[in-house]
Amino acid sequence: MVQQTIQIFGRIKPTGKPSAVFSVDNEDPTGASLDFLLPRDLSDGFVNNKRESYKFRFKKVFDQHAKQEDIFENIARPVADSVLAGFNGAIFAYGQTGSGKTFTITGGAERYADRGIIPRTLSYLFERFSQDSSTVYTMHISYLEIYNELGYDLLDPRHEASRLEDLPKVLIMEDADQNIHLRNLSLQQAANEEEALNLLFLGDTNRMIAETPLNQASTRSHCIFTVHLCRREPGSATLQRSKLHLVDLAGSDRVSKTGLNGVLLTEAKYINLSLHFLEQVILALSERSRSHIPYRNSMLTSVLRDSLGGNCMTTMIATLAVDKRNLDESISTCRFAQRVALIKNEAILNEELDPVLLIAHLKEEILTLKKQLATMMGEQKDEQLTADEMLKLEELIEAFLNDPDPDGTLSLGPAMRKVQHSFSYFKRKILEKQTERHQCSQQPPAATRREDVYFPHMSPVDVNSLKEMLQQRDNEISILVKMLKKEKKRADDAVVQLSRITDCQKLSSQSLPNYSTVPGFGDGMADTLSLNRGGQASSESLTGEENMELGEDVSTLSKLTGQVASMCPLSQQLKSTPPQSRDGNVKGHQEDQRVKVYTFQESHEGNMNQLSLNHGGQVLLYMKKGSQLSAGKQEAFEIFIKDHEEQQIIEDHKQLIKKRSAEARTLSEQLNQVRNTIAELRKQLQMRRRQSAAQSVEVNHPPGEKFDPVEEDLCEQIRREKIVYKSAIGRLKALSTEIEHLQLLLERVKVKIQKDFQKWWTQEASSLQGWEPGATAGFHTRPSSSGTPGLWSSVSRGAEADVNPPSEWRYNFSQCHS
Ligand code: ADP
Ligand code: MG
Repeated sequence: MVQQTIQIFGRIKPTGKPSAVFSVDNEDPTGASLDFLLPRDLSDGFVNNKRESYKFRFKKVFDQHAKQEDIFENIARPVADSVLAGFNGAIFAYGQTGSGKTFTITGGAERYADRGIIPRTLSYLFERFSQDSSTVYTMHISYLEIYNELGYDLLDPRHEASRLEDLPKVLIMEDADQNIHLRNLSLQQAANEEEALNLLFLGDTNRMIAETPLNQASTRSHCIFTVHLCRREPGSATLQRSKLHLVDLAGSDRVSKTGLNGVLLTEAKYINLSLHFLEQVILALSERSRSHIPYRNSMLTSVLRDSLGGNCMTTMIATLAVDKRNLDESISTCRFAQRVALIKNEAILNEELDPVLLIAHLKEEILTLKKQLATMMGEQKDEQLTADEMLKLEELIEAFLNDPDPDGTLSLGPAMRKVQHSFSYFKRKILEKQTERHQCSQQPPAATRREDVYFPHMSPVDVNSLKEMLQQRDNEISILVKMLKKEKKRADDAVVQLSRITDCQKLSSQSLPNYSTVPGFGDGMADTLSLNRGGQASSESLTGEENMELGEDVSTLSKLTGQVASMCPLSQQLKSTPPQSRDGNVKGHQEDQRVKVYTFQESHEGNMNQLSLNHGGQVLLYMKKGSQLSAGKQEAFEIFIKDHEEQQIIEDHKQLIKKRSAEARTLSEQLNQVRNTIAELRKQLQMRRRQSAAQSVEVNHPPGEKFDPVEEDLCEQIRREKIVYKSAIGRLKALSTEIEHLQLLLERVKVKIQKDFQKWWTQEASSLQGWEPGATAGFHTRPSSSGTPGLWSSVSRGAEADVNPPSEWRYNFSQCHS
């Protein structure tokens, strides 16, 4: 169990103008402090003007120039490490709207370097998984949004098709042990970093899509991105489950200052209410005497229950905007942070037993025990010994009894049945002996039986067994005699044949001077014989000596190949690469990176093919709706895009993706080259080793004894190429992640533009409804600041169209709404 207070960090959002009202001190070893010094006139109307200076303590304060990487390293990495070790963790960002909560937790959309805590943590976790091959990790992700006290699943595929209000609500259920369960919140498995990132982007996009001008859900909701980790050592029945909540809270802005009404006021009330309950929970937790903690008052506190004063390592980031008009909000954020800092959490290791694994283990144990028991009780599981076993056992007992050595032993093994049978055998014997003795004493001493005459000292049983033995020997002898007879007959036949042949030879030597032409006889036969013998001899020596040498050869070779293989596992991998992998079609155990190289060449040209394969497909679906626009609307949309302020971001992203893709292509070509070089070197090395192995056989030298500079040089070259290969693969992986991230960012910007267009279009449409030909009530200009006149002039093709839109425009409009 680890006990610690909630860690509090401060992060100051960069301001345009330098501000002298605050100062940061990170030098103090006990923690950092953030001071606000407010001149009286400045404080007027904003802050309580009775005080001029405020001092707040933090673990560390990140000044305006802090990079996202610093935030990750200092805040998120330690939490991620504890989650990997099996503890729960939570990081939440608290601050007013616009102070940088989303930027800190998720990241900015403009640059790869702006990646926030979530993508960096996911990347880090998967990196750690890959380093620890002795443990099996599984990751699931859930993404919950709480808006107006109602929970929504951001990973729900229905998100982009329905209005937020129509989506199923996530419900809180509590079990008998007061554990919280969330119904309707999906848990999606992420097998790799890419999948996890896609889930994040899918959730973020869904969050954006669900937002309407009437609900400002994206800034006025709490978002909880949860990573569920399961960690298990192969073969072990225990597993560790841990959760990491990454929370982007709604803006903490106070209602009184914001001057809202209607829906926005409702939202603000809810936000304030849930943050108020959060504060109450925090206050209750910091008061030791309080036994009741009001977690149930709001959905947020219910969900975060185990992260607040529960089993969790919790960290809070107070995001602060220190420009003049936000000072009082920042001070109130700091005050909140000070209260949070008082809470103590007790994080315990979440170990549990997997019942399925446990049962499997127990079954295995039972089996082993049964086997042991069987050995102890005798090999056979049957109740009785078989006849064969009994016979053998009796032979053993007889041998034991007949052994003249008084110390001779009878070894039965740990078999109870055998022991019992032996005892009953002894008993039988004793009884037999007793009866015999009894009979002997009754019978006249004159020997009437033959056996008794010849073997007066032997028992009838002994005589019987001797008789049996004699019978067996007789049988054996008669069989042997039969065999001998047969052999003799064969030998006789051979002699007869030989004499016939000699006669024949004599005859032919008289008539045929060239007897060697008779096939199968004479020298020819001798030739064949010698040949045969030679052949046999050679085959003998092959199976003997030569085969041994060959075997040695083969084993040396295989040893060498083994060495080469172990030296160049890469080349081994290359060898096992199916040829089609070069087309990028291989899925499976091949190095991910390599597969990635080829997918690069195919789909990383700034298009979203890859995204559509993953969860992002849903995002893409949403995008595709753009193509279903009517011609006029489509045209307007195209112009809208051109003028949109985010268009530059799109262009920048595209350029960057192009650049990175080109870089990746060059790298992959380089990789291919290196791979070929390694394959070639490997071949040479094998050749060389085979040659030297052969040579060593010739000179009768054990192979591998002599130092071979050529071989050493080849190995060195392979080693060098491997280093190049590894670093290229690393770079390629980084490039791939970056490109994927950029593509997702691009996608998000696209969705945003489309949403902006839709918003603007709806606005125009509603104003059009009051439009009549000739009337002067015109279109609104576009709400955004980004050059609307250009859009209008090009869409309406003429200055007068500002008030008189063309007929096709109206047609298209009605089409869109039908
Ligand atoms: P919040 O989520 O708290 O409402 P955001 O994270 O959306 O605020 O930030 C508001 C704006 O300020 C965004 O455009 C964001 O990119 C920018 N921003 C916030 N913090 C930083 C920072 N540390 N560096 C650069 N830009 C930032
Ligand atoms: Mg935000």
